[in-house]
Amino acid sequence: MKIGIMGGTFDPVHIGHMLAAEAARVAYGLEEVWFMPSHIPPHKEDAGVTGMMRLEMTAEAVAGHPSFRTLDIEIKRGGISYTVDTVKELREMYPEHDFAFIIGADMVEYLPKWNRIEELAGMLTFIGVNRPGTKLNVESLPDFLRRVVRIADMPLIDISSTMIRQQAAAGGSIRYMVPDRVYDYIVRSGIYGVQP
Ligand code: ATP
Ligand code: MG
Repeated sequence: MKIGIMGGTFDPVHIGHMLAAEAARVAYGLEEVWFMPSHIPPHKEDAGVTGMMRLEMTAEAVAGHPSFRTLDIEIKRGGISYTVDTVKELREMYPEHDFAFIIGADMVEYLPKWNRIEELAGMLTFIGVNRPGTKLNVESLPDFLRRVVRIADMPLIDISSTMIRQQAAAGGSIRYMVPDRVYDYIVRSGIYGVQP
């Protein structure tokens, strides 16, 4: 099976993530997309949002999509989440699958700086999607990366988790920036300062 991995901090997961995953799925015939929150060291979690909550929010976000799932491998492992470690583990667990890692344009630009990127590039393909703020430029990548980065079109969504956290903390509305079930989870849990 061709499996897409949608990795991120998902603090919180928002519609930009959902559309990126859906665009990649359709463009490359991915059988499933697995949403995988990365672990954040405890000192970064002073917003009151734990790894478990980020995982639960992604579970709410994917509920109802027949081929979206969540993956708790990085949250469970803890520590700093290096994609290369994770993908190695996934390939051992699922030798029958081909993995494609879905990333926004800002991450595509940053790829050369990823930990052990040459090793990682030998293990999977990347699917890059456009995102406001960074031009999606595969041409400027080194050869070994250009060979493994594909592009999927998606509507430009000028939303980030940072912007959502700021807007919520300032008393603004974040309704419809996150899937409805995620919004309900946020209100129910009293996180990000969102008032019901
Ligand atoms: P933060 O502001 O906290 O960095 P974020 O919105 O960038 O949050 P991440 O969890 O960092 O979200 O992103 C996970 C992945 O989703 C990354 O590959 C990122 O490029 C991509 N992504 C996030 N938002 C969008 C968007 N609006 N359009 C396209 N891709 C996106
Ligand atoms: Mg980000």
